[in-house]
Amino acid sequence: MSIETKTPAERMEERSLFQMVVEQFGDAAERMGLDENMRRLLSVCQRQYTVNFPVQMDDGSIRMFEGHRVQHNIGRGPAKGGIRYHPQVNLDEVKALAMWMTWKCAVVGIPFGGAKGGVTVDPKGLSIHELENLTRRFTAEIGVLIGPHKDIPAPDVNTNAQVMAWMMDTYSMQMGYSVPGVVTGKPLNLGGSEGRVEATGRGAVFMAAAACKVLGLNLPDQRVVVQGFGNVGSVASKLIAEAGATVVGVSDVSGGYYNPKGLDIAAMIRYSRSNGSLEDYPEAQRISNDELLALPCDILIPAALEGQLTAANADAVRAKLIVEGANGPTTPEADKIFEGKGIYLVPDILANAGGVTVSYFEWVQALQAFAWTEQEVNSRLRYIMDKAFAATVASAERHNVSLRTGALITAIALVADAATVRGIYP
Ligand code: NAD
Repeated sequence: MSIETKTPAERMEERSLFQMVVEQFGDAAERMGLDENMRRLLSVCQRQYTVNFPVQMDDGSIRMFEGHRVQHNIGRGPAKGGIRYHPQVNLDEVKALAMWMTWKCAVVGIPFGGAKGGVTVDPKGLSIHELENLTRRFTAEIGVLIGPHKDIPAPDVNTNAQVMAWMMDTYSMQMGYSVPGVVTGKPLNLGGSEGRVEATGRGAVFMAAAACKVLGLNLPDQRVVVQGFGNVGSVASKLIAEAGATVVGVSDVSGGYYNPKGLDIAAMIRYSRSNGSLEDYPEAQRISNDELLALPCDILIPAALEGQLTAANADAVRAKLIVEGANGPTTPEADKIFEGKGIYLVPDILANAGGVTVSYFEWVQALQAFAWTEQEVNSRLRYIMDKAFAATVASAERHNVSLRTGALITAIALVADAATVRGIYP
């Protein structure tokens, strides 16, 4: 799209992702009357670490990759945040995601600071052996930062339990003993937690249920659309369908799939697993991602990537409720449009906090070398998320702001308080 064809709103959206997060922070800081010193302290990332590292490819050649690990703030505890493998990963994006992690951990009251990491790579273009080499070398490169009491990575886009197992093994080999607490989202047999794989999607469905109560909606009567069919999107689709709602549309990188009578989510998960994506899934009407976001539905769950709901498409959204499974799917301009349309939006730092909450449980279990049952994990998750939802609603009402700003105000107040009582070193 050339500059001339863009509307002013679209041009406004051309800021970087980190600028967008700082803007969200600034808005909340303004509303809560946050002290200027604290604004300066919290609007930057404490540590930004970029590495360029070689990986030996299967054909014998050496390819260089760029990766990052960023810690936004570690005032409330060790840094925590996922590792992403994606061609669009860059330092600005990782900084934004790290700052969101700080707020997310504070919103649900778990004792971590915010971090994020990523490598600029399309993992689909790598063999399993190359992926392992890349993961092990990246882990070694960021080894100065990570550790069970320093900074604890987890899976994010295009990374999974296998990647976490390689990270855990690499770190453990360097230490000379097994260190299961260095990453979360590990396979169960290596100290992973029951319920971790489903935790983010499950938490999002808890938040959809809580929001339905506020809105006086009966969850089983709702039609749902989910963008993204990976870890978060597929689990959210499955659990919300199990709760009785009708999932009418889903999408992944191959496009959108629509059936007004309801999609068979279990069959789609099986199909996607065996084919690598939903491409050519037969039991649905094919639509584009833009058409998916504009489908007639009650609940929309964006669970793919950031920047999906913008000034260009927000007007077309017909849902009553948006539950942000992904990080940063909505730009501030789209936020304003949704507020104007009276759409109730449960923000990312609350809606997708189930993942980091169960990661916290996994870390606690690793430190204690004692495993909880899935029922314990799920019921503690529900308790934490429902409590955080109630606190967010109360904060939004008290300050007369959106749930996003309400959640940010709660989080910023906790992080600022930790910084104040700890004081400035030296
Ligand atoms: P994933 O890699 O498992 O899945 C991503 C999905 O999005 C895939 O189905 C992919 O095909 C799809 N996708 C990619 N580009 C798309 C596009 N343009 N349109 C539609 N679909 C597209 O990743 P994930 O772990 O499910 O993460 C999804 C989002 O949730 C990210 O924003 C991530 O940061 C966030 N998140 C993940 C976790 C977690 O525990 N995994 C926790 C909190 C937040």
